[in-house]
Amino acid sequence: MKLETEILIPPNNSMINNFSMDEIGDDHIGNSIETPMKENAFDLSDVDKKERIAHLFAEIMDVMGLDLSDDSLSGTPMRVAKMYIDEVFSGLNPKNKPKIALFDNKYKYQQMLVEKNITFYSNCEHHFVPIIGKAHVAYISSGKVIGLSKLNRVVQYFAKRPQVQERLTNQIATELKQVLETEDVAVIIDAKHLCVSSRGIKDDTSATVTCYYGGVFNTPNKIAELQNYLNN
Ligand SMILES: [Zn+2]
Repeated sequence: MKLETEILIPPNNSMINNFSMDEIGDDHIGNSIETPMKENAFDLSDVDKKERIAHLFAEIMDVMGLDLSDDSLSGTPMRVAKMYIDEVFSGLNPKNKPKIALFDNKYKYQQMLVEKNITFYSNCEHHFVPIIGKAHVAYISSGKVIGLSKLNRVVQYFAKRPQVQERLTNQIATELKQVLETEDVAVIIDAKHLCVSSRGIKDDTSATVTCYYGGVFNTPNKIAELQNYLNN
């Protein structure tokens, strides 16, 4: 297994647009619809990645003074590594993207289809702590439809990345527009960020709502209609 070249970590006092790294992280500024990935992101196999993450996480625990020879802690580095690669960050790897079959809209259903209250767990890319929320997605068929569970799977795939909520919203919308061959897609996400509730400002009651209204959804009538379905 080859070792990574030296990783560039900006010093804690570096500034962007006159704001410190801490301030930018707390403000959750996202800059691109694409998850920022290295070109060689998949040179290492999953097995090698887990081995390396386990090694590095053991070092974090060791630096914090934890006794890795303790029975309860000794398996933690590999558990964390497996959880990162196989579960909570599995959506980084395109090989895990859900394969979606299109079907003809035989029922000639021409109104909006709304899949609401899709529970998801993601992680904030600034603090690596959970984002827990509900996604509501809607589309109007362009002549093709997909299985309902695929809407959930698309949400889960993009949630399983280090995320900012704005990007998660746009990534889900972009994927659905492409798969469904239509601009008429809406995504609303209502989520709680543990980095806001459990640390920093420690606000346990606030939630963050983001939305994407594409095509005909970007009209007052359709937005009202969709809101009506979500409120029922
Ligand atoms: Zn955060």
